[in-house]
This record gives sequence, structure tokens and C-alpha cells, in this order.
Amino acid sequence: ALILGLESSCDETAAALVTSDRNILAHRLAGQEAEHRPFGGVVPEIAARAHVEALMPLIEGALSDAGKTLSQVDAIAATAGPGLIGGVMVGLVTGKALAHAAGKPLIAVNHLEGHALSPRLSDPDLEFPYLLLLVSGGHCQLLLVEGVGAYRRLATTIDDAAGEAFDKTAKLLGLGFPGGPAVERAAASGNPFAVPLPRPLKGSVEPHFSFAGLKSAVSRAVDSGQWRAEDIAASFQQAVVDCLIDRTTRGLHKADGATALVVAGGVAANQAVRNALQALAAENGLRFVAPPLWLCTDNAAMIGWAGAERFAAGLTDPLDIAARPRWPLDPAAEAVRGAGV
Ligand code: ATP
Ligand code: MG
Ligand code: FE
Repeated sequence: ALILGLESSCDETAAALVTSDRNILAHRLAGQEAEHRPFGGVVPEIAARAHVEALMPLIEGALSDAGKTLSQVDAIAATAGPGLIGGVMVGLVTGKALAHAAGKPLIAVNHLEGHALSPRLSDPDLEFPYLLLLVSGGHCQLLLVEGVGAYRRLATTIDDAAGEAFDKTAKLLGLGFPGGPAVERAAASGNPFAVPLPRPLKGSVEPHFSFAGLKSAVSRAVDSGQWRAEDIAASFQQAVVDCLIDRTTRGLHKADGATALVVAGGVAANQAVRNALQALAAENGLRFVAPPLWLCTDNAAMIGWAGAERFAAGLTDPLDIAARPRWPLDPAAEAVRGAGV
């Protein structure tokens, strides 16, 4: 099957044509860094307007790159949440309009499912179930991925997401926006053991995450004027890696039957994170799978691929389906949130 994938949940607008045999026939993406940079973060209204302007030309461009017409597409997959509601609506309404006009089925994709299944797009040998560390701008979770639509959340962050911590650290260090790649670049010329920083929740039995205390410690280190920015960046990155590895080690104890250790989401583009997880997988005799860097950060190929997986399972959606600013992958785990996390 040939799937048109659309992504617009944050500050990337993207369109892709993906086949169910893992061919990415076209991918067009427009970032909005320049629009948001003056504000030091993503401004929802600016994002939504930019998605409106960018999306149709990207779709037309992707179709022409692939040499396809809309009538040759088998289904249209659009991110329907979670994310900034204005942006999500732009992509979903566009997907609905195209689906209606061309008489094609609509697939409303959870953006997190896009991240969660993206490793199966780049690695045809990755089978269910696998232990997924989903580390992105808004999420930090360990999930047992048991099948399409079957996600068991083993752990989540009790405060900030890992990507959020990277972005805040970049801001504190004056490295600009977006923060993750800037911190990684600065860290390359710093000493990861120079600045003493905490490892929140390290050693605790449940594999949950916490990064708020780390961010505060970075803030104090910056204010002290005692350290080079490169050393703070490197020490921060090392602390995040240590936390992710300690927590994922705990998660492995709960991941019965997992065939592989897998990482996805924007922070999975970080080389130090990838290297450490690869070593952890090797220690545990597990395969390690990480998508190529461009498939880690937001893109439409992962949405098209999640659409292809859902389409193969017969999962399509009515045209009146609503956009959802919040949409957990494991609603049962989310429901016990009040009990702590
Ligand atoms: P979510 O997927 O949770 O809804 P999002 O879509 O905004 O959030 P992604 O695009 O998946 O998040 O990831 C963006 C995040 O990844 C940002 O916080 C960014 O700083 C971080 N990131 C990107 N590249 C790197 C890198 N090389 N090192 C560390 N962090 C990175
Ligand atoms: Mg982004
Ligand atoms: Fe994302």
C-alpha cells in the first residue's frame, strides 16, 4: 500500500509518501526555527500559521518527487495528537479534506505511535515485543511495544521530558534554539566530569524519570560563573545519559520477552545517548535498534509508516474524528497518574 503521511504537531511541517514495504518514496519537511528563535521557544499561534502556509506545497512537492498522484495513494495518515492543538488541527483537517476529495481512507495517527513504530521502518527485522525508550521534547517513557496499538507504559517522567531538559539547558547557556543539537555540539569540547550534577531517581526501584532537579542544578552552575559553558553542557549530557541508562536498566527487568532495546524520539538523535544504550543492549544480550537521526526528530515518514502499519491491520478512522492535544499511548497507565506518576 502507498500511504501519504502528514505531520504538524509541533514546529515541523512535513509530508511523506511511504509504502508498506518500507520504501520512503518522498519526504518534504519545513522547520520553523527562524520564526520561533526570537522567542526562545515554540510559539503556538506562529506555529499554526506556519503549518497552514507550508503544508499544501509540501504535499504537492512530495507527490511530484515520488511521481505519484493523490489517486494512487491508498490512505492518508495524519497526526491527530498529542501536540499543539492549532498545528495538529491544520494537519488533520488537511488530511480529512484530501481523504474526502480523493475518496481515500483517513488514518488518525498518534504522534507518539509514529515515534514508537519508526524503528520498524528503518529496521525490517525488528519484531514485537520490544522495549522502547521514547525520549522526545514532550515525553520520556519506557514502553513495552507488543504490537500495533498495543503499548504498555512501564515508566514515565514525573516532571520534565529529557528533550525539554536539553532545551532549557541550551537556553540557560545561551546556546539558542533548538537546544538539543546545540548542547550536543558544545558538549563535544567539554569535560563531562567537570561539573558535579545530580542524577535524579538513580537507583530507585521503579524505572521512572525526573529531570527538573538536573535543570535547577544546571541553572545554579551557570549562575556561579565557575564553569565553562562547554563543561556544563558536557556534564549535563553525561548526567542525562547516566539517568537514562540507570532507568532503562530497571525497565529491562520489567520488559518480559523483549527481543530488542530500541530508542526513538528527538533525543535519540544524540550520539552519546545512542552509544550508551547500544552498550547497555550488548551487556544484556539484546539487539539495539535506533532509527537514523532524521527519523528520530519529527518527520512525516514515521507518520506515513504508522499509517501503513495501521492500514495493514484494517485500522482506519471516520472523517469526524477529533484532534487531541493530549493522547496517551497507554491510557490505562495514564489513568493511575493521580497515584504518583
Ligand atoms: P513529542 O514527540 O514528545 O511530542 P516533540 O515532537 O517536540 O515532542 P521531537 O521532535 O521528537 O519532540 O524531539 C525534539 C526534542 O529532541 C527537542 O527537545 C530537542 O532538543 C531534542 N533533540 C533533538 N536533537 C537532539 C540531540 N542531538 N541531542 C539531544 N536532544 C536533541
Ligand atoms: Mg521541532
Ligand atoms: Fe515528536
